[in-house]
Amino acid sequence: MITTVPDYFDEFHCLAGSCPDTCCGQWEIVVDKAAEARYRSVSGDLGQRIRAALVTMDGETCMALDHGRCPLLTAEGLCPIVTELGEDFLSETCHTHPRFTEVYGGLRETMLSISCPEAARLLLTRTEPLTFVTTRDDAPPEPNDLDGDLYHLVDRSRAAALSLLQDRTRPLSDRLALVLELGWRLEPLIDAARWDAGHRLLDRYGLRAYRGKRLTYLRRKRRGGDLAPVRDLLRSLEPLSPAAPNCYAALAKPDLAAAEIPLEQLAVYFLFRWWRKASCNGYLYRQAGALVTAVLATAGLTEVCGSLLEAARLFSKEVEHSEENRAAFRRAMDGPDFSLPAILSRLEVPHAI
Ligand code: SF4
Repeated sequence: MITTVPDYFDEFHCLAGSCPDTCCGQWEIVVDKAAEARYRSVSGDLGQRIRAALVTMDGETCMALDHGRCPLLTAEGLCPIVTELGEDFLSETCHTHPRFTEVYGGLRETMLSISCPEAARLLLTRTEPLTFVTTRDDAPPEPNDLDGDLYHLVDRSRAAALSLLQDRTRPLSDRLALVLELGWRLEPLIDAARWDAGHRLLDRYGLRAYRGKRLTYLRRKRRGGDLAPVRDLLRSLEPLSPAAPNCYAALAKPDLAAAEIPLEQLAVYFLFRWWRKASCNGYLYRQAGALVTAVLATAGLTEVCGSLLEAARLFSKEVEHSEENRAAFRRAMDGPDFSLPAILSRLEVPHAI
């Protein structure tokens, strides 16, 4: 298997008792079968407390929350399973969070979810462009039914989108417009299985002169319009935290130029986590539209959340960590409010143009 992680992956260390917003107080955590057996075998007071906290929900065993916190957490915010039994004793979810892994046959990709304050800090405070580290091991590929042509085109298109997003000679709004258009133009070629045409299109986006020509065209469609449809979309999702609806109501028109570098890192984060999913279904524009809309939404939530970091955490917790919300957010890209012209109309034209 080939494993890919972002270059700051090994810098991550859980803040444990110093975490300002512990993940042990946010979700009912599903306990896998192996961990449940371990938990039920623990003796003494801790064993009793663990067993008392286990509940069955929708056929799964979960650690129930007590007043919004894992009932095992100490007053100092520490997990007694870790301190008394060791980290390896934890359930899969607790052990791996905030590491999220997607597997595509022989490829395993792991990212640190920005719902975690430390993972968000590592991503959003770096100034150099994000890179990815790849390693190989002897594990066999996972069985899969990926289409080779589709997988290859999506793979190449992600590399092209990464290079577009990290081209710091252009304003971020231009880079987002190009990535959006790339997804919009590739998807019909995917639908028609026109793989060669797709690769030729990618070759053209690799040429600076061609990108310049596309931008001249795309800028005519951009007005920096307001985010009302984005606000409506967020408000249509099931809120996971009580604060979310009020934050969505205060979504403001974003100033992308004010935070170009952290927003670039955010866009690359969404690219890495989402784009390759199109190799399972061909819906490439959904990923491109969702990426640009997620950047606009997060930037637009910055003021009400107090910082870009908190806005990114809110978006990640509300959208990325809910299967239903995630799917609804992506599906919305099929509608007229999130077509290429509609999203372009929300992107500002840089002042220097
Ligand atoms: S949110 Fe992140 S830093 Fe905080 S307790 Fe969870 S993993 Fe650790």
